[in-house]
Amino acid sequence: MKRREFIKSAGLSAVGTGLLLNANQSVAAKPEFNWKMVTTWPKNFPVLGTNANYLAKTIQQMSGGRIRIKVYGANELVPAFEAFDAVSRGTAQMGHGAAYYWKGKSETTQFFSAIPFGMTGQEVNGWLYHGGGMALWEELYDRFNLVPAATGNTGVQMAGWFRNDINSVADLKGLKMRIPGLGGEVLKRAGGTPVNLPGGEVFTSLQSGAIDATEWIGPYNDLAFGLYKAAKNYYYPGWHEPGSTLETFINKDAFNELPADLQAIVKNACKAANMDMLSEFTAKNNTALNTLVNQHQVHVKALPDDVLIKLHALSNEVVQEVVAKDVFSQKVYASYSDFQQQVMRWSNISEYAFMRARGLGA
Ligand code: CA
Repeated sequence: MKRREFIKSAGLSAVGTGLLLNANQSVAAKPEFNWKMVTTWPKNFPVLGTNANYLAKTIQQMSGGRIRIKVYGANELVPAFEAFDAVSRGTAQMGHGAAYYWKGKSETTQFFSAIPFGMTGQEVNGWLYHGGGMALWEELYDRFNLVPAATGNTGVQMAGWFRNDINSVADLKGLKMRIPGLGGEVLKRAGGTPVNLPGGEVFTSLQSGAIDATEWIGPYNDLAFGLYKAAKNYYYPGWHEPGSTLETFINKDAFNELPADLQAIVKNACKAANMDMLSEFTAKNNTALNTLVNQHQVHVKALPDDVLIKLHALSNEVVQEVVAKDVFSQKVYASYSDFQQQVMRWSNISEYAFMRARGLGA
């Protein structure tokens, strides 16, 4: 019996060694790709930056080491907002960021990250993967010699931190708030003053009263940033960023050099990273919210309905103006809003109705 076991285990290990050698030989025979990934985040920035690390590691693991990716934080290889151009011209093979950073290249890019009162993370993934959104994104980035991939989603963000209460539309008048993008345009139309500040100046500006309010992301990142020390009123929901998509952009020549199996690995690793970020935010936001409320006496408040209705009407105006400027924006927005109208019918009787139902007996 012992002898049989010995032979069996010896046999198995011999087979194992054989497989290992074959695997090594086949890896050695295949080309290796050493890629650089530039990001728009500080190195290891919570969730957003660590998602870029996760993506690089996943691609390396899935490819058995045939693709190696070195991740660069903002300003390590190129400044944050030059990442798009750097990958476009091939200085780096891939980048990790958010599409609305590139509105200077094309206003349409904004529709691939977030639209005020637009779709949630779950809905937008439906549009991208199964509703025609991804093909439009690829068509847009093709102009820049890039291949895009959705890589992460923040979920619904918070409306932000306010020094004073927001009780009515009148309270938005004269409000100085750090809020970038389309949301900032909407605030301007409501009589406020949107301010664009680099991350490093947000906290001190709010604390000194140079600004009255700021949005950032959600409880997890906002807690780490210490924003509760500068203002106590934490309003929801993040009407301006209901499910912001993060992105990977890949140099098209570099992507085309990959054999088909590695192309599939890169694309599916991005899908895995997309899901991973939404899951991480879901897990970390809820625990951080408890800390903010229980340890830091933060007041969590809902924006009044009439304020939301006004912001929604103004958002439609702002989006229509962007759309009126160019034909491709019209095409993308038509696809996005058609999908949203349809999916809302389903979301309302599924997610929304269930969450309401669950709350009734809680
Ligand atoms: Ca935000």
